Amino acid sequence: MIPYKHEPFSDFSLDENKNALSKGFETVKKDFGSEYPLIINGERILTDKKLESYNPAKKSEIIGDMSQAGEKEALQAMDAAKETFKEWRKSSFEFRSDVLFKAAAIVRKRKFEFTALLVKEAGKPWKEADADTAEAIDFLEYYARQNLELKDGRKVESRPGEYNRFNYIPLGVGLVISPWNFAFAIMAGTTAAALVTGNTVLLKPSSKASVIAYKFMEVLEEAGMPNGVVNFIPGSSREIGDLLVEHKDTAFVSFTGSRDVGVNIYEKAAIVQDGQVNLKRVIAEMGGKDTIVVDSSADLELAAGAIVKSAFAFSGQKCSACSRVIALDDIHDELLEKVVEKTKELTIGDPEADIYMGPVIDDASVKKIEKYIEIGKEEGKLEVGGTIDNETGHFVNPTVFSGLKHDDRLMQEEIFGPVVGFAKASNFTEAIEFANDTDYGLTGAVITKNREHIEEARRDFMVGNLYFNRDCTGAIVGYHPFGGFKMSGTDSKAGGPDYLQLHMQGKTTSEML
Ligand code: GLU
Repeated sequence: MIPYKHEPFSDFSLDENKNALSKGFETVKKDFGSEYPLIINGERILTDKKLESYNPAKKSEIIGDMSQAGEKEALQAMDAAKETFKEWRKSSFEFRSDVLFKAAAIVRKRKFEFTALLVKEAGKPWKEADADTAEAIDFLEYYARQNLELKDGRKVESRPGEYNRFNYIPLGVGLVISPWNFAFAIMAGTTAAALVTGNTVLLKPSSKASVIAYKFMEVLEEAGMPNGVVNFIPGSSREIGDLLVEHKDTAFVSFTGSRDVGVNIYEKAAIVQDGQVNLKRVIAEMGGKDTIVVDSSADLELAAGAIVKSAFAFSGQKCSACSRVIALDDIHDELLEKVVEKTKELTIGDPEADIYMGPVIDDASVKKIEKYIEIGKEEGKLEVGGTIDNETGHFVNPTVFSGLKHDDRLMQEEIFGPVVGFAKASNFTEAIEFANDTDYGLTGAVITKNREHIEEARRDFMVGNLYFNRDCTGAIVGYHPFGGFKMSGTDSKAGGPDYLQLHMQGKTTSEML
């Protein structure tokens, strides 16, 4: 088998790629405004209750009208998943991996169509949408290979007259709740991991980007996934999310989203229901308040570039985004000046054109960011940005605050928008202490030329993904296993060598001969 290598990113300075993306836009526009059904046991079900998924850069543009599952459909999907599990659990590792390999090949063929859809449905700039599609392909390719490696279990010893084996078997029905910010990659990755390991799935995608999830369902079907293995049930958390988290037959929940929702799921899943025979597992990937520490010895040009990219690419709507800078006293002012300068150069607008930054996802997000901009003005000094245009689309200009203390609200609470704050530290150890002083522990970066400081941070900076002399976003499947400490989640390390086992249980068999 060809060894795993991540999907290359598209170079949009080439006409070939620009043209392919234009064609992608043409293709996806043909479907705009269509009605989409649920998919339960392969059956398409249109419900009366629907929710529009729209373009956050142009609110009037409806991407699709998505059927919403209520209690009845959620329970119907659970029945289908339970029934299908009886056979699916016996399917071979090879068959299941093949579904993923084929799905990857199909997506690769339609790459620019998926990228175009991400631009439209999630408001991603070209480069970000392209990376999202590439990551979806990577998850499929990587988990397919990882699964094959688990096929024979792990080697255990046998004594004379004994034949021992240790194998991995699936858990049962998994509930996958996926986010809108990596509407393709995380949705496809969490679904693929659950199904390739022999579980059946209830996929509840984000209502803000559900059309791309429907398109992915079609890909899985085309790739040979049997009916009932993944059941597609968009719906509200209140109506069906809690119901399924609490359901006695849910074996595990794979959740990516906000801290509040994640904690709620974690608590609810812990309660053993009447008739429940498994303790539920929870894989939770939650928020971040990610810091870039800039040392006295840093290359400030590199530092400023890393900060701007980490804070503003996809409008700061990544849980890995940089929202705090802790700069050493002596380089703070020069660094800030460079960041402000670079921020002023960013282009903002409808991402159907090749711009740096598109919109944020919705009104609620605009309101939340607006609130934090006001808090920032009270706590610190607004250096650039702070303005919002919520008319045709949800646009927030990239915003930099200085003069903050590391424990100010702006430096503690997750904003999930294009806002970054600066605070000072008087020495490197203090900078790491300040960086650690949040509830979260997802990503971080240290920009320094000092070897001792690199080793100090490696030991003491408590984040799941720590980067040196680069930005703190953009983990690549199979290269940078991704997941965080503390209130960032269960450190489940998506795209890493231990991820699939979270969806499986180990079974020891010992036969006397
Ligand atoms: N894996 C992404 C990154 O490294 C972030 C995922 C997320 O925001 O949920 O930037």
